[in-house]
Amino acid sequence: YVAKAEGRGPVLHEERHDDDARTRLTLLEELRKALRAGHIGLHYQPQVDVRDGRVRGVEALVRWQHTTRGTISPFHFLPLAEDAGLMPEITATVLEQAVRQAAEWYRTGFAVPVSVNLSADDITPDLETTITALLRKHRLPPEGLVLEITETSVMHDPTAAAMVLRGIRELGAGVSLDDYGTGHSSLTLLLRLPVTEVKIDRSFVSSLPDDARHTAVIRSTIELAHSLGMHVVAEGVETHAMLGALRELGCDISQGYLHSPPVPPAELPGILRHSGVAVLADR
Ligand code: C2E
Ligand code: MG
Ligand code: MG
Ligand code: MG
Repeated sequence: YVAKAEGRGPVLHEERHDDDARTRLTLLEELRKALRAGHIGLHYQPQVDVRDGRVRGVEALVRWQHTTRGTISPFHFLPLAEDAGLMPEITATVLEQAVRQAAEWYRTGFAVPVSVNLSADDITPDLETTITALLRKHRLPPEGLVLEITETSVMHDPTAAAMVLRGIRELGAGVSLDDYGTGHSSLTLLLRLPVTEVKIDRSFVSSLPDDARHTAVIRSTIELAHSLGMHVVAEGVETHAMLGALRELGCDISQGYLHSPPVPPAELPGILRHSGVAVLADR
């Protein structure tokens, strides 16, 4: 199932007035309404085992189904939502939908963990309680959920974040360090946080196989992650050449347009069936 690049739905007019206060205010009003109306949904992108091509997980990516503008990408509304303090509400609906969906897939025999992205405002002491309640409500085993964090989402207070994430780990859910390599303290965070997975940022992956320096960074990241007992996901894998290089470097999981763009949930079972997904995910 080699898929085309994700369709660029109609997006907001980018008239270089990003800071136009009235546009932002209108958009924010619309976003609040969209949340209430249930127009904030998820697409899912498969994560594929580099060795055997099976789907080992899916990442949930938020989408705004706008009534007139079509599907709006997170790049166009998450920054606004973050500024307006709307992230906890968005994350609540994202987590609810992702856990419910994963539980349904588990029940139908597709035991693939779902990864959910978190923002800074989400990593609070309440998170463990929220997750515990959701897993119980939908009867999803904890290993069916992975929380993706970034340097930005923890940098405000890494010590507090580490405590919250340790609680999440004790529940049995996974913790993934997303966009690895883009920040200033990726390595420090990798050592300080209770991480189970490292996601190498697309900016490194996209320079494979030719860029010797980026290849060296990826190689040493994989070695380090493996020796710390973590597995490694490469994001933004678009070509067979990239995948081949990742295989040689010992990367575990590949995610990108080469395999599939993020798709609506109804399309996932077809992709999973096609990949011969393991009935019990063992990652
Ligand atoms: P991310 O978590 O690093 O997700 C990967 C992004 O790369 C996604 O963009 C995905 O569609 C895109 N992508 C996947 N494969 C390829 C590829 O082969 N080539 C290229 N060029 N791009 C690829 P998307 O869905 O637009 O999300 C953008 C960012 O928005 C995410 O980056 C994440 O930081 C944030 N985000 C998305 N959903 C959520 C969410 O539910 N909550 C939070 N807090 N953030 C989210
Ligand atoms: Mg992510
Ligand atoms: Mg990422
Ligand atoms: Mg990224």
